Amino acid sequence: MQKGKVYLVGAGPGDPGLITKKGLECIRQADVLVYDRLASPRLLSYAREDAEIIYVGKTPAKHTLKQDEICSLLVEKAFTGNMVVRLKGGDPFVFGRGGEEAEVLADKGIPFEIVPGVTSAIAAPAYAGIPITHRDHTSSFAVITGNEDPAKEESSIKWDKVATSAGTLIFLMGMSNLQAITEQLMSNGRPKDEPVALVRWGTCTNQKVVTGTLSDISEKAKEYGMENPAVIIVGDVVRLREKLNWFEKQPLFGTRVLVTRSREQASSFARLVEEYGGEPVEFPTIKIVAPLDYEPLDRAIENISSYRWIVFTSANGVRKFLERLRCKGCDIRSLYGLKICAIGPKTAELLLNMGLAVDLIPEEYIAEALAKGLEKHIKPRDRVLLPRADLARKKLVELLETAGAHVDEVIAYRTVIDGRNSEIIKEMLIDGRINLITFTSSSTVRNFVNLCKEIVLAGKLKNIKIATIGPVTSKTARQSGLNVDIEAREYTINGLMKAILEEVGVV
Ligand code: SAH
Repeated sequence: MQKGKVYLVGAGPGDPGLITKKGLECIRQADVLVYDRLASPRLLSYAREDAEIIYVGKTPAKHTLKQDEICSLLVEKAFTGNMVVRLKGGDPFVFGRGGEEAEVLADKGIPFEIVPGVTSAIAAPAYAGIPITHRDHTSSFAVITGNEDPAKEESSIKWDKVATSAGTLIFLMGMSNLQAITEQLMSNGRPKDEPVALVRWGTCTNQKVVTGTLSDISEKAKEYGMENPAVIIVGDVVRLREKLNWFEKQPLFGTRVLVTRSREQASSFARLVEEYGGEPVEFPTIKIVAPLDYEPLDRAIENISSYRWIVFTSANGVRKFLERLRCKGCDIRSLYGLKICAIGPKTAELLLNMGLAVDLIPEEYIAEALAKGLEKHIKPRDRVLLPRADLARKKLVELLETAGAHVDEVIAYRTVIDGRNSEIIKEMLIDGRINLITFTSSSTVRNFVNLCKEIVLAGKLKNIKIATIGPVTSKTARQSGLNVDIEAREYTINGLMKAILEEVGVV
C-alpha cells in the first residue's frame, strides 16, 4: 500500500469481524489512522506498533473535530508522505461523508482509494434477525436519510414517492425525527399497522431492538430510550425477527469485556469472549519490551549447563528467553539435561510447541504452589534459573532459596505501560459501555489504575463488574481501590472464562 495516499476504509457496523480483508490490511499497514466513534476500537489493535492513531470523535476533554478539520488533517498527513487510513463506520459512501472527504482529496491532488465496508443499513437488521429482502415479503429495499426534518418545506426527500417506493424502507440517522418520519409514511400510503423495528448499536453486544408498528413505534422508542445510532426498518420483513433472532441468544450477549493483557496476549482471551457472544474491548495496558541490560540473561545463557532447573513463570518468559537464546547463536539443544518447570498449562503448552517437554507443572498456578512442587526435586545447592519479568514477585526466589536452591533470577523482559486507545476506552468506561473488566496479572491492574486514575478515583467504575485470574491479582486490585466480583478458581484464561460464565448463569 502506498505512501502519500489516503484510504477511506469502511470499518463495518460495529462487530470488528465484519471488516473486509482489504480494510484490515490497510489498518495493518497504516502510518496514520484516523477514526471516530462508530468504528470499532478493537480494529485499532491491528495497527502497527508505531502507527499514529488519531481519534476525531467526541472525548470528555476535547470537542469533536469539525468535518473540514478532519479533511485538512487527512490532507496534511498524506502530504507529508504517510499512508493514511481514514476508518469510517459501516460503508464510507453510505451517509458517511466519505464522498465529501474524497472530493477534498481529489481537489488537492492527493491519491486515494475507497475500501467499501458492510453498511449498518443491512448488517443491523441482519443481526436483529431481519432479512431486508425475502421472496415472500418484499423484493426491494431503499436506504434513506432520516436526518432531514420531514416537516421542513424544502426537504429533498419526496415523501409521496419514497413512502411506497420499496417494500422495505431503512432509515439511518432518523431517531430524532422518528415521529415525523412515521407520520409522513402513513399519510403517504403505508398502513398504520405496518411493522417497524428499531435496531440500536446493531452488531454490537449492546444491540437493542424495539419493534412495533408505524402508529406506535415513536411512543415505544421514547419508552425504551431508543436514540441514535439506530437503524429504522419499515416493512413486512420485520415479522421474521420472531423466528430468526439469533444474535441476542448467545451466552455473553450484552457483555462488553475489557481485556487488559499485553497486546501480544490479549487476542487469545478476546477470541474466547467473542466465541460466547460477548464483545471484547482490548486495552493493552502493558507492552512487553527488552530488558534494559541483557548482561545477566546472557551470562546465564553462557553458563546454561551449570543449572539443574529452569523455571518459566509466564509465556512471555518462554518467548523472550528462547528469542535471546537464538540471538546468542544457540537453540533448544543447549538446554539438554536441564529440567523444565512451567507455572501453568499455557506456559507448558508454549514450551511444548517450541519442542520442549515440561517436567513439572504445580497443582495451583501461583508462586507458592510452584515452590512447593519444586522443593521435592531440589537438592541443596542445585542451581535454578528463573528468566522472567522485571516486576515479578520476590516470593518464589525466597521460597526456593529456603529450600536450599541457588536461584539466579534474570530479567528476560520488561512490562511497560501501553497507553494506546486510552482516550476511547475511558470514554466507554464513563458512558457505561463496558460491563466487565478482566485482569490477568497484578501488572495489568497497576497499569490500568495508572492510566485511568481519574476515573477510578471518581468512583466511576462502581457499576462495572471486575473479574481476575486469581487471588494474587485480586489482592492487587483491592489494594488499588477496586472491588473484585469474580475470581477464577483455575488460574488460567479458560478458568477466568469459566468463572465469568458461572456468574452469568451459563455453566
Ligand atoms: N456509513 C455508515 C452510516 C453513517 S451515518 C454505514 O454505512 O453504516 C450514521 C448512522 O448510521 C447512525 O445514525 C445510524 O442510523 C446508523 N448506524 C451506524 N452504525 C450503526 C449500528 N451499529 N447500529 C445501528 N445503526 C447504526
